Amino acid sequence: MPEADVMSDLSHSAPAALTGSGKPLSVTRLRKRYRGGVTAVDEVSMEIAAGEFVTFLGSSGSGKTTTLMMIAGFCEPDSGSIVVGGNDVTRLAPQKRGLGFVFQQYLLFPHMTVWENVAFPLQLRDTPKAELRRRVGETLEMAGLSAMARRRPRELSGGQQQRVALCRALVYRPPVILMDEPLGALDKKLRDQLQTEIKRIQQELGLTVIYVTHDQEEALVLSDRIAVMRDGRIDQFDTPRELFERPRTPFVADFLGAANFLPGHIEEHTADHLLVRLDTGGLLKARAQQAASVAKAPVRAAVQPGRLALRPAGEGFCTGTVETVTYVGTLVRVTVRPEGAVATGVVRLELPAGRAPVPGERVGLGAEPADVSVFADPEEGR
Ligand code: ADP
Ligand code: MG
Repeated sequence: MPEADVMSDLSHSAPAALTGSGKPLSVTRLRKRYRGGVTAVDEVSMEIAAGEFVTFLGSSGSGKTTTLMMIAGFCEPDSGSIVVGGNDVTRLAPQKRGLGFVFQQYLLFPHMTVWENVAFPLQLRDTPKAELRRRVGETLEMAGLSAMARRRPRELSGGQQQRVALCRALVYRPPVILMDEPLGALDKKLRDQLQTEIKRIQQELGLTVIYVTHDQEEALVLSDRIAVMRDGRIDQFDTPRELFERPRTPFVADFLGAANFLPGHIEEHTADHLLVRLDTGGLLKARAQQAASVAKAPVRAAVQPGRLALRPAGEGFCTGTVETVTYVGTLVRVTVRPEGAVATGVVRLELPAGRAPVPGERVGLGAEPADVSVFADPEEGR
């Protein structure tokens, strides 16, 4: 986005933005196909409540930026509609939509100081001087930039410049704020710090935020709900907890939790559970669910590494030999090679460091039925 556009955006946003309360946003059947044939966004629909923090999570090329750009108004959809606070904005220019933006590439005014950059959106809105000083001061303080208020962008590191861009979008409290990987360029410690700040400010002001990232940990920390995107479509749009506990597709189970997939077939299904006979021979009990209610159907059972427990050898759904034990802070990652009728890959566990087994040890593996998701194999639909 050229700098001139930033100027005009800011000068034309509704003054109502100054009240700072979030607005609901809904997107209906958005589609975008670029010339050259890629369908970047395919029938994306979602309802976002006022004050909600929603993240588009997906790998590179999954259509996150294109979706956000259509909401922002910088990219025209082929079809579908976008409604903000009850108004259809699909055909409105970006600056008329009442949205704030922070993009991957920060765009600061090079001739202005940090203070002036952050004050700029408030000046355009004729904010009274005392309030302007207070708001800019608070915002810079919050981002740890107070000491740099007099510097110009070229005298800052990339990370600091990105924080200034963040401050500039937050300072005027737009009712909906769109952020495309705004912390991508920062080191881990700064990222963590700014994630906390973004979340705090969003909650304090009740802002509606749509955030884009490819980092699942970042999405989990920040979001009320996450839309997991794949090939231009939303696989699942749910709370972090639902995504973990009730992944609707193997992709979601893998992308969020790096799940273990254990091949087998349905041995029994009742109203409240499924029994899966694993290829290795053992029986795994899972909660009742849609995906695989057909007897003898080939399935894959998915369990996250953190939800597996060690049992004595011979107990649980399988027994195997510990291959590797790796300490990662207070956690330990363990791989177990299952014994059984058919060779399958290793099973990965995450355990509290105090309960680590040793390589070569024979152990049983157990899981609570509630933590086991079962998917038809091959995956139906997509
Ligand atoms: P993400 O932000 O998730 O990485 P994008 O929305 O940038 O994904 O891209 C989605 C798909 O659209 C990709 O296949 C990408 O190559 C393609 N794409 C993005 N922008 C353009 C463009 N301007 N012209 C043609 N194809 C594009
Ligand atoms: Mg992108």
